[in-house]
Amino acid sequence: MLPSLQSTTPEQLQSQLSQWDQPSYRSQQILDWVYRKHVASVDEMLNCPASLRNQLRSAYRLGLPSCEQVQGSADTTRKYLWRLEDGAMVESVLIPANPALYGEASDRHTLCVSTQVGCAYGCRFCASGLEGWKRNLEVHEIVGQLLAVESHCAQELNTGQDRKVNNLVIMGMGEPLANYDHLMRALQIINAPWGCQIGARKITISTSGLVPQIEQLARQPIQYRLAISLHGATDEVRSQIMPINRKYPLATLMQACERYVQEKGKMITFEYILIEGVNDGLDQVAPLANWAQRLHAKVNLIPYNQVDGLQWKRPELAVQEAFLKGLLNTGIKATLRREKGHDIDAACGQLRLKVQREAPQPGTAV
Ligand code: SF4
Repeated sequence: MLPSLQSTTPEQLQSQLSQWDQPSYRSQQILDWVYRKHVASVDEMLNCPASLRNQLRSAYRLGLPSCEQVQGSADTTRKYLWRLEDGAMVESVLIPANPALYGEASDRHTLCVSTQVGCAYGCRFCASGLEGWKRNLEVHEIVGQLLAVESHCAQELNTGQDRKVNNLVIMGMGEPLANYDHLMRALQIINAPWGCQIGARKITISTSGLVPQIEQLARQPIQYRLAISLHGATDEVRSQIMPINRKYPLATLMQACERYVQEKGKMITFEYILIEGVNDGLDQVAPLANWAQRLHAKVNLIPYNQVDGLQWKRPELAVQEAFLKGLLNTGIKATLRREKGHDIDAACGQLRLKVQREAPQPGTAV
């Protein structure tokens, strides 16, 4: 299969152009079409001569993931379900700022992207892992989610800037650090001035706690933000819902996080989904606050989004607020996420699961 233009760097492109005896300035023109103008076909590269377009067509493929479904909610959160070239489906979620509802900065447009089809890590509360892991996303499939969303809503967002998305969270379907090499190459493109131009400080990588890869991330030079999907402050509670905790228990995970913080000099975030009767008891507050104090981490509490077919429930608002209050009383930084997208299938992997399960199976009468 031909390489994708959406995973190509200037160096690679220039080397190809010189083999074709094309001037090197064409490289920037092509990258502009791909990463800034979101074209899905070489035919749209109007300032490139026909001979170059023919050469590009013969050496590369180019295309955006096809949009299978968009769900939008009243608070403007959008969930996109993409169909990839092999028919696999992944999700991205766009969370435009909504100052009227949330008082946020009006220019912040966050996109959450996926890194794998399915997930092997089997967190008990999560829809993404319910049907197991299928494959890692390729570099162009990670970058392509951003390009496709921007292309899709170019007029609606109207930021007055070239880029429509200016904050990226790697928290969609899949364990990002289990697809480390493709993710790093995709983020290089997303971060580069010749690419999608999203600053490293506006890119957050979330992990369920893959210790060797957290250490690898600490050693690489770019300053991405790190979020740990914690969801339990003691091994007993965390192991119940996150099998990864048996391989890398909290003490081991926190040592790796400490090395990351020392290396990068950056605050990390603990994501903590509140699930009724599982991890929302006040007995979790003190150990959670201890970990956060030790790492100077901020805690994001997220009320659970119910998933069809799973028994877990979101705690009452009073329970959520009591948990938050308990944390704040210890002096750590903590927030309770004001929910966006609860009226759509917002839990990670839920829309894909629903569409897959509703699709006629081979041999089924339609
Ligand atoms: S929470 Fe993340 S790591 Fe866990 S199963 Fe879901 S996608 Fe995988």
